[in-house]
Amino acid sequence: MHNISEIKSLLAEPKQILITTHRNPDGDAIGSSLGLLHYLNKLGHTTQIVAPSEYPDFLAWLKGAEDIIIYDNDPGATETAVKAADIIFCLDFNSLDRIDKVGDLVRKRDCTKIMIDHHLYPDDFAHYTLSDTTASSTSEMVFDFVEALGDKDLIDKVVGECVFTGILTDTGSFKYSTSPKLFRIVSELLALGVDDYKLQDQIFNSMTEKQLRLLGHCLDNRMEILEEYKTGIITLTKEDYANFDIQRGDTEGIVNQLLKIKNVQMAAFITEQPTIVKISLRSKGDFSVQQIAQKHFKGGGHKNAAGGASFQGLKATVRKFKELLPNYKDQLAR
Ligand code: 5GP
Ligand code: MN
Repeated sequence: MHNISEIKSLLAEPKQILITTHRNPDGDAIGSSLGLLHYLNKLGHTTQIVAPSEYPDFLAWLKGAEDIIIYDNDPGATETAVKAADIIFCLDFNSLDRIDKVGDLVRKRDCTKIMIDHHLYPDDFAHYTLSDTTASSTSEMVFDFVEALGDKDLIDKVVGECVFTGILTDTGSFKYSTSPKLFRIVSELLALGVDDYKLQDQIFNSMTEKQLRLLGHCLDNRMEILEEYKTGIITLTKEDYANFDIQRGDTEGIVNQLLKIKNVQMAAFITEQPTIVKISLRSKGDFSVQQIAQKHFKGGGHKNAAGGASFQGLKATVRKFKELLPNYKDQLAR
């Protein structure tokens, strides 16, 4: 990582450090942020994490999660925290519009900003942009970052559990974006006492009955398979949101189910939110959903996992998505 010696000298004296991460934070957003926070605390810094919106319940057990300031719940405290920072770390996102109004607060500050992120095409808003699009997760990058600073001995079980959580969720339990290096890191985390079985259980076997029934509803009533385009679509209407009392986090992982069908190369999960229609995309192999999200839905992400939004209604968005498919038929056929 370049600039690491400059960052090391910035961190040589105790500072007020803010860590921020993307809206609808997932395991990697929260895991990488908390992993970095516990490390920075060991260096003697004062630290605070802010997130634009709530994190899902299955992450609440992580040490320090309860101290995260959520903009949606407390905009005043968020503003105070952003204003107080000497250094702002931006984790697991590549453009300030991914953190909503927190982005406006961060943009206004002229303090040192450091991005650590693994998404494609990072914006150039930070003083230091640590971007590794080959990394499985930002959590893996936090491990690399601490190691590059020469502080690997400060990675303990607590930091390890945070980092392991992000790796686990972003790789779908070691299914995607793995590498020999990743397994080397994970092996070191287990040696520190991280209990992989316990964490897998806490993170993945934590659904509520309602969430599992909602998945059943999606597969039974809301799934469409377009064989010609090797594409699967699941949609959820406003009525579904009301009938199932769907809260943030309840739809986590539904889109991935479509990829379990042998010939499905691309999966789309299209949901009617209060003001927008949200589109979540996944793919197998070389087909890039990042290009579709960026080109047609004002979004982005990774080759195999991306998302975006539409301001047309649900039906019009689904129609638009289907109308795109003939353009990608050749790529999907491979
Ligand atoms: P998910 O489908 O789980 O919400 O997101 C999958 C991936 O796509 C994540 O890496 C996320 O950062 C990215 N992503 C999702 N929605 C958006 C969006 O609206 N804009 C951008 N730029 N990226 C998104
Ligand atoms: Mn991530």
